[in-house]
Amino acid sequence: MSEEIIKKRLSDIIETDLLREIPRITGSGSRVEVNSKRAVLFCSNDYLGLSVHPAVTHALSDAVADAQAGSAASRLVSGDRPEHEELEKRLADFMNVERARLFSTGYQANLGVLSALAQKGDLIFSDELNHASIIDGARLSRADVVVYKHRDIQDLETKLAGKRTGGLKIIVSDAVFSMDGDPAPLAGLVDLASRYGSLVYLDEAHSFGLMGAGGRGLAVHEKLDDGVDIRLVTFGKAMGLCGAAVLASSHVISLVTSTARSLLYSTSIPAYIARAAMASLDQIEKGDEVRERLRRNVRLFRELSTAAGLEITDSVSPIQPLITGTEQRTLNASRMMLDRGYFIQAIRPPTVAPGTSRLRITLSALHTEKQISGLIENLVDVLK
Ligand code: PMP
Repeated sequence: MSEEIIKKRLSDIIETDLLREIPRITGSGSRVEVNSKRAVLFCSNDYLGLSVHPAVTHALSDAVADAQAGSAASRLVSGDRPEHEELEKRLADFMNVERARLFSTGYQANLGVLSALAQKGDLIFSDELNHASIIDGARLSRADVVVYKHRDIQDLETKLAGKRTGGLKIIVSDAVFSMDGDPAPLAGLVDLASRYGSLVYLDEAHSFGLMGAGGRGLAVHEKLDDGVDIRLVTFGKAMGLCGAAVLASSHVISLVTSTARSLLYSTSIPAYIARAAMASLDQIEKGDEVRERLRRNVRLFRELSTAAGLEITDSVSPIQPLITGTEQRTLNASRMMLDRGYFIQAIRPPTVAPGTSRLRITLSALHTEKQISGLIENLVDVLK
């Protein structure tokens, strides 16, 4: 009986072109093999190429050599190491905030922090295109979740004005939206937060390392960091590693440390990852040149795509979606591109809204002009 139910659910997924399979990737950097086919990688979040930067990989191997393999417990039990605190201190100083707290992943950080801060009776105002981990964290909190239209300050204000609580209000947004690459309207969010007595929680997963002085992210780029109460940075994207940190006031971090279940009940990141993250942070801080290379690649992609008649969006970030519509069309395009030596993953519901399936192209400083022009020539052919 159970087996039948599972099979039926699986066949529903297959019939609607929503089956997910894990592609087998070998190689590293922008040249990989995908299920044994050689391809240029255009769907990784390694925007600055730090996952293969010698300063980071050497720091990692040196740290591995004299560390225990795993930390074998949560930070709050016996999994704490000096590297964790050192990294937290460095991140807090770098971002000019009181404190930072590490999490094992960005997903766990959003889940843990939102569900720890907000409770029944509180209000969370969340952009409709926020990342899944924000949606899940908000749901888990038992707060009343009010979803506002994507980047729509007017809609957010109407919703803020229409809801009352004696508890906390939190406005939460991706800084750069993960599937569209567009930025949060931060000035509007900060202004509304101050007028309606709300906190601002900003997920800088796709802006940290890329925007603002020294790669400090969108809030610093817009000189609005004083108006943002809580920021999330992830190490799995521009930093080329894995892990995450939440940056906030001492009080927020103390509350999160005592109540965020994904922190309390999960093994801490190994000390060697924290050590490598410090090496990666060094590269981010002095990374103006590599950021300029990335910006050049984004510009080139946009110029060539426009000239070739591809329908790109307004995004000027390294996330450049090509909306292809149906799941079937998107899957076919992704498969055909792989046959031609370019790997771009097909993004389908529920990651994006039905009818907006897309090829989510991501650019990296590692890409060459030739790889980008080859990508576009082939895309034009495949999508016609
Ligand atoms: N927030 C956003 C906006 C993301 O895009 C992601 C990763 N897709 C996460 C959080 C989760 O981060 P991690 O991969 O470290 O779990």
